[in-house]
Amino acid sequence: MNRIGLFGGTFNPIHLGHLRSAQEVLEAFNLQRILLIPSSLPPHKQPEVLASATDRLAMIRLATLAHTGFSVSDVEIKRRGPSYTIDTVQFFKRELPSDTQLFLLIGLDAFLEIDAWKAFRDLFALTPFIVMIRPEAAAGTGVQTFKRVEALLQAAISPSYGLRPAPDRVEGVNFQPVYFMDVTLLNISSTRIRAALRQGRSIRYLVPERVEAYIKRRGLYQ
Ligand code: ATP
Repeated sequence: MNRIGLFGGTFNPIHLGHLRSAQEVLEAFNLQRILLIPSSLPPHKQPEVLASATDRLAMIRLATLAHTGFSVSDVEIKRRGPSYTIDTVQFFKRELPSDTQLFLLIGLDAFLEIDAWKAFRDLFALTPFIVMIRPEAAAGTGVQTFKRVEALLQAAISPSYGLRPAPDRVEGVNFQPVYFMDVTLLNISSTRIRAALRQGRSIRYLVPERVEAYIKRRGLYQ
């Protein structure tokens, strides 16, 4: 059975925090491949500057060139209008061989807003999630974070959700598991990268070298 991770985001721009956590998930969950999927119009975000879809796609391509475990999908870019994860999951369920097991990768910060997503109940019935715990959550990692997620899912989806150990996850009757994954804490965000660029500071070691060169060449985020 093929195990494929779907990792959506604005990727404005992609950075080493995204890449390192995806790498750790790839290994820990024995995935064949992770598809990085930039959104066309992020429904829940209004960044001060959004690089064009073409530029964001190109930066992901450059960041993942040499890696057979990662690839890029332009499915959300090609679809018109705001990007909804449910549409993307349904697309891959149709397109990929039927024995493919999909996983949705998501950071804890994004996950905590999931009850605002389109058709989120259907999403939880369709696909397991892998929630990556990162620095902003540091104060509340471990059991506290698990409890918070459990409470959110019980309130928003089904009271049957409960915590299970080894692997750490929250599970509900008739819903797919939500796994937790502790990733190396790289406190990098696209927001801070854009701010550094606006202020003329270096972004070296925050993004892959090829991405840094691309941003410079195209004069992005100035
Ligand atoms: P912004 O600062 O513009 O809000 P971001 O850095 O959070 O952007 P997104 O493209 O919005 O990046 O994030 C896509 C996904 O990657 C989200 O699920 C988010 O939680 C996750 N993510 C972002 N930064 C990190 C990081 N440093 N480590 C692990 N996951 C991350």
